[in-house]
Amino acid sequence: MNIKLTFLGATQNVTGSRYLLEANGKRFLIDCGIYQERDFRARNWDPFYVPPKTLDGVLLTHAHLDHCGLLPKLVREGFEGKISCTPATAEIAKIILLDSAHIQEEDVAFKKKRHEKEKRTGPYPVVPLYTTEDAEATLPYFDPVGYNKAIQIGDGIEATYHEAGHILGSTNIKVKVRQNGESRTILFSGDIGRWETPILLDPTIYENADYIIMESTYGDRLHGDRDHIDDELEEIINSTHKAGGNILIPSFAVERSQEVLYYLNTLLNEDRIPHLMVFMDSPMAISVTKVFESHPELFDEDMLELVRRHESPFDFQRLKMTNTVDESKAINHIRGTVIIIAGSGMCTGGRIKHHLVNNIHRPESTVLFVGYQAVGTLGRRIVDGDEEVRILGQYYPVRARVAQISGFSAHADRNELLKWISGLNKPPKHLFVTHGEVEAANAFAEFLREQKGWEISVPEYQDEVILD
Ligand SMILES: [Zn+2]
Repeated sequence: MNIKLTFLGATQNVTGSRYLLEANGKRFLIDCGIYQERDFRARNWDPFYVPPKTLDGVLLTHAHLDHCGLLPKLVREGFEGKISCTPATAEIAKIILLDSAHIQEEDVAFKKKRHEKEKRTGPYPVVPLYTTEDAEATLPYFDPVGYNKAIQIGDGIEATYHEAGHILGSTNIKVKVRQNGESRTILFSGDIGRWETPILLDPTIYENADYIIMESTYGDRLHGDRDHIDDELEEIINSTHKAGGNILIPSFAVERSQEVLYYLNTLLNEDRIPHLMVFMDSPMAISVTKVFESHPELFDEDMLELVRRHESPFDFQRLKMTNTVDESKAINHIRGTVIIIAGSGMCTGGRIKHHLVNNIHRPESTVLFVGYQAVGTLGRRIVDGDEEVRILGQYYPVRARVAQISGFSAHADRNELLKWISGLNKPPKHLFVTHGEVEAANAFAEFLREQKGWEISVPEYQDEVILD
């Protein structure tokens, strides 16, 4: 067998997922993600490893930016193949890529202004990695494929997309290559979700794979259980209501915002919290929620039951989706307690900043974090207990209650990762651990070796291997 695999991202780091698979005279990328870690961002500007024009297609596991965020650059530089992914992934990726382009354009405009003001020039030309136009030009290349059906992507090569349980539309991709009467299967994990996540179906378990490329984001950790999320949320809402303040929930537009709605809906249905107004104040989260609503075939049984009973978390009575800026501003004039879900998830931009300006100095209000806060972000400074923070150019004292619920995660932990591969009826020829910080990836590889005794390695950036 002669199959070549090159690791072009998410190698001993978490972002920039990209693998080049070459077989039977064809070339495919599995994912084409953007690097988001400061240390690796310069790689986004590097020329592609092979000319984009020579690629026959991209197989996309899911719509997170670290998996799809470099597609507009790929298309602008000559890619002409198909970007194959599930319909929900295509719909969410479109929203995310346009938003990403817009943010890059804004950042460039801001940087230029600053340089002008400071009368200096930076070391690099100030241009966006790609523009809105580039993102729009990428959209026609998306080619939606169904779940669990092998699709022919080349002579003797087929790909099958299986549920990953990570975000709506997410998949593990199994590629099967035939050469001279023999075949090999290569399983790309993408990101692996968790069992019994609200709304989503569970991850798929596999009986066979010759080669596995596997994520390890939380390969060295165990998540707390999810059972008390509703209790914590109940306490925070009730005590803030009693104090007479608002509850602000900075949240990512994809998955987390919808999950928060799911828990709020549960508490409302069970009469555990008062019937407060809930605002989803993020045009992006609203668009993504619409994608959720149009894909009930991806819901788990509990969620389907809610929809059947007309108790959908996306459509309860006091839920308001505020699309326009005027609607968003009007929220500030409401007396009494309201719940506001707004982006961005780490308070680095978006409407949450305006709500923070109006609430962070009020001891009766609560800022509730439901996701990871990276070092250097406004969200992290608030979580870390800074007494004063700068928002939109002004300083404000932090007097609001700062709360955090840690049970949310879209990634499998160490034991869940182990469960994902527990169905294999024989050892793979080799397993490659990727998509984890170097400590997590190495710890997970070591853990798997001990548990399974398999051939396991942690590839480095641009490593090339022959799969025989
Ligand atoms: Zn992901």
